[in-house]
Amino acid sequence: MRTQIAAANWKMNLTLQEAQTLLDNILKQTDNIGENRKVIFAVPACYLTVANEKIANTSNVFVAAQNVYSKKSGAFTGELSVTMLKSINVNYAVIGHSERREYFNESNQFLADKVKICLEENITPIFCCGEALPVREVNQQNDFVTRQLEESLFSLSAEEIQKVIIAYEPIWAIGTGKTASSDQAQEMHAHIRTQIGRKYGEAVADGISILYGGSVKASNAKDIFGKPDVDGGLVGGSSLIADEFVPIIKALK
Ligand code: PEP
Repeated sequence: MRTQIAAANWKMNLTLQEAQTLLDNILKQTDNIGENRKVIFAVPACYLTVANEKIANTSNVFVAAQNVYSKKSGAFTGELSVTMLKSINVNYAVIGHSERREYFNESNQFLADKVKICLEENITPIFCCGEALPVREVNQQNDFVTRQLEESLFSLSAEEIQKVIIAYEPIWAIGTGKTASSDQAQEMHAHIRTQIGRKYGEAVADGISILYGGSVKASNAKDIFGKPDVDGGLVGGSSLIADEFVPIIKALK
C-alpha cells in the first residue's frame, strides 16, 4: 500500500509558545502512528529547528518547510535554500502552495526548478496543484491540473518523480469551509494518477502518494481518506487545533 500521510500546513500562524504547546499536545496523543503512515508538520521557517527537536524521539513524524528557493545559495535576501534545510535536518518542503502561486506569482516553470533542486538535495517536495473556482465552473479542472503536472513535474525522470508527494488542493476549497466531495477528490486523484501513468507507467503512478487538501476536518477526513486514490491530506486550519488534527491523523487508511 502507498504511504498514507497527514500533513499539517500551519501557514503564517502561531507564536513560538503556541506552536510548542500545539506540537506537544498532538504528539502526546499520537505516539503510535503505525507502519506505512507519516505525519508531517509544515511549520513557519523560524520554528523548523524547534519542531525538529520536539519530534526527535518519535517515529514516522517529520517536519517540512513551507517553501524553499530555487537556488542553493547567493544574493537572495529573505529566501531559504535546500542546503540550509538539509543542514538543519529538514527533509520535506511544500512546493507550489496556491497561496504562493497567487500572492508571490510562482509559475509552473519556477516550481519545476524548486522541485528539481529539492530532489538534488534529497528533500521530498510536497507538490501542490489544483484549480480555482472559475476553472471548475467551466469543467476545465482536469486539463488545468494536467498542465500543472506537465510543466512542473514531467521533466523529472521516473526515479525522481517517485520521490515526490503530490497534494491536490482545489483553491475554492482552501480555507473556505467548502470541501470537495469525496467523489470529486477521488475523481481528480484518479485523473492525476492516470496522467502520471501515461507518462511514467502504471507501476510508478501506483506508488505515488496523492494527498487531498481543502477544508479537511475531523468530521470529513474518514470519508475523503477512504477513497482509493486519496492517500491522506494536506491540512491547513484544522491542523492548528489538536482536537481536529489528531482525529485526522487517526482517519488515515
Ligand atoms: C492548505 O492550506 O493547504 C489547506 C488545505 O487549508 P485548509 O485546510 O484550511 O483549507
